[in-house]
Amino acid sequence: MIKDNLIDVEKRINDACKRGNRSVNDVRLIAVSKTKPEEDIMEAYNCGIRDFGENKVQELLRKKENLPSDIKWHMIGHLQTNKVRQIVGNAELIHSIDTIKLADAIEAESIKKNVITEGLLEINVANEDSKYGFTPDLDPEIFQHISKYTNLRIRGLMTVAPAVEDPELNRAVFRQLKALAVDTKAKNIDNIRMDFLSMGMTGDYEIAIEEGATFVRIGTGIFGSRIYEVK
Ligand SMILES: *Cc1c(COP(=O)(O)O)cnc(C)c1O
Repeated sequence: MIKDNLIDVEKRINDACKRGNRSVNDVRLIAVSKTKPEEDIMEAYNCGIRDFGENKVQELLRKKENLPSDIKWHMIGHLQTNKVRQIVGNAELIHSIDTIKLADAIEAESIKKNVITEGLLEINVANEDSKYGFTPDLDPEIFQHISKYTNLRIRGLMTVAPAVEDPELNRAVFRQLKALAVDTKAKNIDNIRMDFLSMGMTGDYEIAIEEGATFVRIGTGIFGSRIYEVK
């Protein structure tokens, strides 16, 4: 079941890369395993998947402890400042840096642990009240501030697009995130690189790839629907 889903997802990723004139090597699949049991993760692991996404620190750490050490764990959910101590040093990439306060806390903890942490700035492109993230009109002061960090490296941008019936409706959102990354890169700010664009979920990842995604975060399309939805 998970194996069949993965074959389907990988084919769709390939096709979307062709349509978007992208190399498949530039698009990384993150299997979003939140709420799913470790057996499901092992099934995907045995199909060759090594990148998994979780949205709760406790759950990520528990799974990390029990599962193979070559898994790369991506923190994709809203992160509270009081959980920063636990996640720093344990995530491949923190996709969901949504405030300067949080970024400061990650920087401070990374210095304390003497590790380099890589992260993305989450952008609330569609300006939805229900979503976390910076507004797309990123204040230059934010960049000035971030450029002084020594142990937190910003590698790109992430967005959670609106839930829509027709994924075409999110194309403009993905385009806007890509444009913001291009503009930001052109500013040549120290410590801010724009290598990664984390965008696209089960309902809209093909469009996101056509528009430049380098990470797609797919849960339902691989593991089936979740018993309970967690934000
Ligand atoms: C749950 C979640 C996903 C995966 O959603 P699906 O629609 O199941 O693919 C992707 N990104 C984030 C931030 C999530 O919380």
